Amino acid sequence: MSDTICAISTSLGVGAVSIIRVSGPDAISIVSKLFSGDNLNNVNSHTIHYGFIVDNKEKIDEVLVTVMRSPKTFTREDVVEINCHGGIATTNKVLELLLLNGCRQAEPGEFTKRAFLNGRINLMEAEAVADLINGKTEEARRVAISQMQGSGSKLISKLREDLVGLISNIEVNIDYPEYQDIYEVTINDIKEKINYFHDSLTNIINNYENGRILTDGIKTVIVGRPNVGKSSILNKLLDYNKAIVTDIPGTTRDIVEGSISFNGILLNIIDTAGIRDTDDVVEKIGVEISLFKINEADLVLVILNNNEELNDVDLDILNKTKDKTSIIVINKNDLDSKIDLSKLEGRNIVYTNTVTLEGIDTLKDKITELFKLEEIKKSDYNYITNVRQISKIKECLKRIDDIKESLNNELPLDMIEIDLRDIWDILGEIIGESYTEELLDQLFSKFCVGK
Ligand code: GDP
Repeated sequence: MSDTICAISTSLGVGAVSIIRVSGPDAISIVSKLFSGDNLNNVNSHTIHYGFIVDNKEKIDEVLVTVMRSPKTFTREDVVEINCHGGIATTNKVLELLLLNGCRQAEPGEFTKRAFLNGRINLMEAEAVADLINGKTEEARRVAISQMQGSGSKLISKLREDLVGLISNIEVNIDYPEYQDIYEVTINDIKEKINYFHDSLTNIINNYENGRILTDGIKTVIVGRPNVGKSSILNKLLDYNKAIVTDIPGTTRDIVEGSISFNGILLNIIDTAGIRDTDDVVEKIGVEISLFKINEADLVLVILNNNEELNDVDLDILNKTKDKTSIIVINKNDLDSKIDLSKLEGRNIVYTNTVTLEGIDTLKDKITELFKLEEIKKSDYNYITNVRQISKIKECLKRIDDIKESLNNELPLDMIEIDLRDIWDILGEIIGESYTEELLDQLFSKFCVGK
């Protein structure tokens, strides 16, 4: 990290201001070569300076330059930020001059990578930076900022500390059995600790689902026979005509998608092809996909036509969704009821009429209730939602199961200690105490350039 990197940190387009960020040992001297105004080499840290970016005395832009000296910066290196006028030509020209004067174009996420490698943030916090940038809702933002401030890493670090205490005690007992004044760890002590680790990690996994719903939204699939009103329900939920509504069965041949922010949480809705036996090739693919989507969904809305008796296809859909979180939406409530309700016992039912909008709010309330959205939102937002981190926690739980088995089989303590060390290492990988170059490359490549 001996070189100095630069990148446009704002999105490139026409706007009031663009920010170009420079970080590295030569950040200040390179910018000062291009800056007409105060001598940046001599100014105090964390100060802003008015002047011009010049190229051989030609004024390129009128700018404000912020100088921040190491180590109190995002990357812990010298950082200079140039606020120039927004606009593609100006911003690119300033970037070009920086490159010509010794900077290297930063790779995606390289500023954050440097912040991590220089110990300014840990890996969980770095990943939260990406989540904050990519977050689409207020709730996703809250989860990301909580993680960025270290709520998740504190949890993991505390578990690691507890583990180290246990491992070192076991080690002393094994290596120095003659030390009478050191407490001898019993099998019961280990069982107790293991249960505590198990419960703490399981709690994180359980909360993951809630957190995932906050950040990614509820994956919702609308299914039902053709012409029952799936597209109409989708449109009413989305509040605009996205799906094509006709009275010809089979109109929604493939998948129509849309999202609404609902109580601050995204409802990602997919309207699938009506499920029915079909010979039409295109429609058949749609039908297969809709069955597949049911399995993937967090929520299935099964739409029935109030005015038609349940047939085999309806019963098949009801059967395929019985173990899913689902709501049976009996649509066309304005028409006579022909549905045998005894077939719907134990299911969540909402009646709708997409013409008068009757029942649409009840449907939204039902979703709020099923996913405990009010409760999730009242929590402290300390959710670990990152898939990489969660997969590591699952790995730890697997090791804990191994330890439980070893304890039951009365295996020697040094065998158990190996598994405890592994758990300590895996938890370390979550916060980035240990990492591989490939992992960093993979993680930071998902960032935008300039972050
Ligand atoms: P899909 O094939 O399941 O997506 O059904 P559509 O949403 O395309 O609707 C099929 C037909 O039913 C259209 O003619 C709609 O206008 C009509 N429809 C939808 N909802 C209602 C409703 O609540 N009441 C009545 N009477 N007709 C409806």
